[in-house]
This record gives sequence, structure tokens and C-alpha cells, in this order.
Amino acid sequence: VTYITFGPAGERIQVNTVYCIGKNYAEHAQEMNSSVPNEPVVFIKPGTAVVDGNVPIVLPEMNSAIHYEGELVILLDAVPKNTLETESESFILGVGVGLDLTARDLQKRAKEGGLPWTVSKGFDGSAPVSHFITAEDADISASTEIILELNGTVRQRATIGEMIFPISKLIAYLSRYFTLRRGDLLFTGTPKGVGPLHAGDAVSVKLGDLISLSTRVPNV
Ligand code: ZN
Repeated sequence: VTYITFGPAGERIQVNTVYCIGKNYAEHAQEMNSSVPNEPVVFIKPGTAVVDGNVPIVLPEMNSAIHYEGELVILLDAVPKNTLETESESFILGVGVGLDLTARDLQKRAKEGGLPWTVSKGFDGSAPVSHFITAEDADISASTEIILELNGTVRQRATIGEMIFPISKLIAYLSRYFTLRRGDLLFTGTPKGVGPLHAGDAVSVKLGDLISLSTRVPNV
């Protein structure tokens, strides 16, 4: 069972399902040689993929090219089915950041074979996340930036306003197909600039000045 921490008192909340959005920034879709989607691209990681984003990354025991993807992550409350876009943001419990770690070579092979790429996205430890601040404390706007630094160099940087599908739309969309529960997470997609992780790398992800995570890949 995996827990995240939430709010000023550090309340522990059990993680259920991790919903992730692919290709939610046009320039990232481009760097993946992919077109901009007409509808949100949704995939799922098991809740057990979630780990504390402030401890060293444990790379999976598969000989694979693990890529970082820095993302804004939403902690959801229970969401009624078929929630309207105009109401969906009231079911946001908390806001944090995370890494959607991806075994890119396995994902590429699966895509080429027309097969599901669950293993490449959902392995143990594939979803390091920060602490979550309350939605009231998270004063985010279209100009709030999501930034990933690798060894002190900015590799990913975009504003929330650059998302193809805004958070309100994503929650409403998911609620049509899934029963969203308190403790579900929503990874909102990654900006361009994804790349591989190597032993000894230091990685940080931050959402403006609001919240951040900082981790490293151990030396072998
Ligand atoms: Zn992602």
C-alpha cells in the first residue's frame, strides 16, 4: 500500500489509481514524432508505482533506457460520474509534482508492435511524487511554470497554460469513463525536453515557487 502526504499537517492518503495524460503539450508531441491529439490520451499506472520523490530513484531491474518526464500532479477527491468541466476543479484535493518515469526503449518497442506499453510506464517506482499542498494553497494560474532541472540545468520548462487539455477538462473527461476516488492521482502530461537518466544524476521538478521534489539516481 502506498501513501502520499497532503496538506500542512502531512496527512497520509492512500494512493489508488494513477491516471496519466500523454502528449498534453504540443512541443512534446512533436519531439515524440507524434501528432497533437483531438482527445486526451489516457494511460494508467498502478498505485503501487508511486514512491516518495525526495528519496533516491530506484531504477527497475530491466536493462532499459529510463527517461524522466516532469509533470504537475493533481491529487483527486472522489469525483461524481460525468462531472462538468465547469465543476470538476472543485474535486481537486491537492497539487504536487512528479516524475512519470518511462522505460523508453520498451515503450518504443511496444508502440511499434501495436501493443500496450503498461510495463514501460507502470513498473515499481515509476511515479515519484512530491508532498501535496492543498488546492487552496496552490495558487496556480495559466502562467505558473513547471520546471525540471537535471544536474542544475533546466531541461523542461512550460506554463500550465500551454497544456492542450486543461486540468478541468481532463478531470471531466476521466469522470465519463472511470469512477474517480479520493486518493487517485492525475499526472497531467510533460513538456518537451524529456531525456534519459544516468547513475549519479540529480533531478528536481518544481511548480513555480509552490512545491518541488528533488531526487537523484544512485551511483552504481
Ligand atoms: Zn508523462
